[in-house]
Amino acid sequence: MTDFSDRAPITFQDPLPSAVDVVVVGAGVIGISTAWFLRQAGSSVLVCDKGRVAGEQSSRNWGWIRQQGRDAAEVPIAMDSVNLWESISREVGADIGFTRCGILYTARTERELARLERWLRIAERHQLDTRMLTGAEVDALVKDKPGQWAGGMYTASDSRAEPFKAVPAVARALQARGVALRENCAVRALDVTAGRVAGVVTEHGRVRANAVVCAAGAWSTRFLGNLDVALPQLSARATVARTAPAPNFYDGGAILGEVAVRRRQDGGYTVAASSTNEHFVGADTLRYFSEFLPALRSSTRFLDVRFGGDLLSRLFPTRHWHADEVTPFEKVRVLNPEPSPDALREMRAGLIERAPKLADVPFEEAWAGMIDVTPDVVPVMDEIARFPGLYLATGFSGHGFGIGPGAGRVVAEMVLGKPARHDLARFRFARFDDGSKAEVGPGL
Ligand SMILES: Cc1cc2nc3c(=O)[nH]c(=O)nc-3n(C[C@H](O)[C@H](O)[C@H](O)COP(=O)(O)OP(=O)(O)OC[C@H]3O[C@@H](n4cnc5c(N)ncnc54)[C@H](O)[C@@H]3O)c2cc1C
Repeated sequence: MTDFSDRAPITFQDPLPSAVDVVVVGAGVIGISTAWFLRQAGSSVLVCDKGRVAGEQSSRNWGWIRQQGRDAAEVPIAMDSVNLWESISREVGADIGFTRCGILYTARTERELARLERWLRIAERHQLDTRMLTGAEVDALVKDKPGQWAGGMYTASDSRAEPFKAVPAVARALQARGVALRENCAVRALDVTAGRVAGVVTEHGRVRANAVVCAAGAWSTRFLGNLDVALPQLSARATVARTAPAPNFYDGGAILGEVAVRRRQDGGYTVAASSTNEHFVGADTLRYFSEFLPALRSSTRFLDVRFGGDLLSRLFPTRHWHADEVTPFEKVRVLNPEPSPDALREMRAGLIERAPKLADVPFEEAWAGMIDVTPDVVPVMDEIARFPGLYLATGFSGHGFGIGPGAGRVVAEMVLGKPARHDLARFRFARFDDGSKAEVGPGL
């Protein structure tokens, strides 16, 4: 069994340096990938995580390294990212399960097929190997219950890796290359001198730095909130399970109607309900409601609004604190939500209906993660104008694992002041308050 909680042993305990070039807040795939490219360029780097390396989204995800179905601005970065995952997987000297296995979206009706087909124009623009499949071609790939599909969209170069292994393996390789990594080390506050970032204050002391990258996932809004910077981002619970070893009826990742499956290195499948992301109403829902309206109205169904749980504490969160106080980050070391029983039922029903070869294969483990969603379902990668030297890389909205190394390189190059290799206008922070109309990404 995998330990997803703050009971997992602490494995990264480097002493805090007094000064580095860059401090990275958060050791998920984005923080670790950013550190990877900063180090490659010769920077000294400290990565702090309040809990564990990849303790939150970056180990809990489906393991899809997907280019297809993305926002047009993300595609070139995602295409870089597949190649970077492949090269990094060789360099880290550990098997992270990287495989170019293909990703498939199926369509039950001609209407669904037409919706998928619209995305093909984006693929063609970037010469991505995405193609439409007939029902018979889907049946040739997915060897279970033939005859149920009108067709599908397939990208053979899309890939997978094992999330529990991947980011920790990169972190170990980073440590061997001289990057300091520290778990159970919340960054409490930013150190600002003469209007510029001068470092951070962690729960274990102060570290001077020329630049700070906030890659805090679902916590980024809180981290910035303490600086009175408003980041419209909400969290959504997504539930996942892994099956016992099962017959290999399909080797890649696929959306099969209501259920998503991905072949695992251990011979089982990672399974999820394909579009259940539960957002529990809290203070930020009310605060950012108008920003999220276009996404809530769109067909992406990225947020299923719920009222349960500890509503009171969500309505009155701690918004401000001083650097000498225990912060919300230390109170929740590892965000480890209970899996949703409804989602687990949906998944089982989906398997019975769509992939009968898995109908009776038991779930050996179930877990959930909190996805960080922005109003337009694309991330922010930008410097925060009010705090020169503070960079934000967050809001990957349920698809940051695949694009992680590509995004990490983008952020590292931004910090290093290098010319951007892609058009990054779509990811600017100012889009939320400069009067531009929210363009919700495809969320396919
Ligand atoms: C169930 C699920 C399925 C998904 N499936 C896929 C998929 O198949 N493919 C895909 O591409 N993406 C997928 N995603 C999305 C993907 O996992 C995320 O977009 C990605 O992992 C985000 O990485 P991150 O580094 O930004 O955030 P995280 O991995 O959440 O890391 C943020 C880290 O910051 C730390 N932190 C926060 N505040 C502080 C602080 N003040 N001080 C120190 N540390 C701090 C946290 O402890 C955490 O470890 C999925 C997500 C979930 C939850």
